[in-house]
Amino acid sequence: MTKKLDTIICHYAEIGIKGGNRHYFEKILAKNIKEKLAKELPNNFKSIQRISGRILIKLTSKEIKTSLTAYRLLLTTCFGIANFSFAYESEQDIKTLKKDCWELIKNKKFKTFRITAQRSQKKFPLTSEEINREIGAYIVEKSGKKVNLNNSDINCFIEIVEKRAFIYLKKIKGPGGMPVGANGKALTLLSGGIDSPVAAYYALKRGVKTDFIHFHSMPYTSPASIKKVKDLARTLNKFQLTTKIYLVPLADIQEKIVSETPEKLRIILYRRMMLRLTENIARDKNYLALYTGESVGQVASQTLENINATEDAIKLPILRPLIGFDKEDIIEKAKEIGTYETSILPHEDCCTRFVPRHPETKANLREVYAAEKKLNIEKMTKEAAENIKTEIINY
Ligand code: ATP
Ligand code: MG
Repeated sequence: MTKKLDTIICHYAEIGIKGGNRHYFEKILAKNIKEKLAKELPNNFKSIQRISGRILIKLTSKEIKTSLTAYRLLLTTCFGIANFSFAYESEQDIKTLKKDCWELIKNKKFKTFRITAQRSQKKFPLTSEEINREIGAYIVEKSGKKVNLNNSDINCFIEIVEKRAFIYLKKIKGPGGMPVGANGKALTLLSGGIDSPVAAYYALKRGVKTDFIHFHSMPYTSPASIKKVKDLARTLNKFQLTTKIYLVPLADIQEKIVSETPEKLRIILYRRMMLRLTENIARDKNYLALYTGESVGQVASQTLENINATEDAIKLPILRPLIGFDKEDIIEKAKEIGTYETSILPHEDCCTRFVPRHPETKANLREVYAAEKKLNIEKMTKEAAENIKTEIINY
């Protein structure tokens, strides 16, 4: 009888050590895995089970071979998983374990092997060390091959957990991080450039669910720019399945700023208005923080002076996961997560409208306040807010 691959064992990253919160994190991870599977491989799994320190995906026998790649892709985008393995469920009985291990490796090419048992069920009569030795000796006898602990061709892992036993040959690296949704929700300011989608990725990686807000200058900027940010949000959804995007018109606000205030402060004043509008939505819909793709010194608007002058407009925390990144590293990450190709498509950003010839690089707050006195900020915010469009984006 050949053993059938029937289980995927997922080991979690940090969430395993979260003490009292552990169940909460486990539940969210299991729910996230289940939602993804239900959506993408609905006919290829029987159930999701939580057992001590692991999440099990029980597979149907149907089309397992073809779905392995799909599972691999799916689980490497599920934050919270440290590693996972395609496994065979055996029994908590040393004789059966011996036979099953042998069944599993007898047709493989190898010169050396090792057994790596982990016994979290202490009622099992043998220690991990004893299991390794007994099964190791059995395989030597059956195969005539040698044990090599440090550099073996095959490593046969055995896990004894609760009332069950599993065998597998490989640990596949997961994406790490924490399960999306475990750490609240935030709003990412998504521009269509390279940086902000990567910032959103880092929000998601730490378990923060994120929706998006995008400012456009329609009809002066094209619908293609909006399609572009929606495509970016959709690509990022492989980490969270569904998201909301707020599309906010900025054209009227920009016109007022252009006609009433000093040219060099335009970008700062646009940004302050963007933040105010974002903060209002966040307060209304319970988003606890904002994310942006800023990195110190990358462009004129990202000097410490200008970050200061912009951030001053609101109270909500602004998180900037890329603050210490070089552009090259951001580009590399954007390629890895699949947003780069979309980000580099040409687009008009709302902030490139009426760009000042000499933008301020060291904004002075007193000058900013004086400029804003000429604007009716409340009215401008209210009018823009009335014209916000919200769309749901599914994976
Ligand atoms: P990105 O590559 O993300 O566009 P950038 O290098 O072009 O960033 P800026 O234009 O200074 O830098 O923008 C800084 C951040 O402000 C962006 O990462 C994004 O979070 C936010 N932002 C800029 N423009 C917009 C916009 N039109 N809508 C929403 N957010 C924006
Ligand atoms: Mg940009």
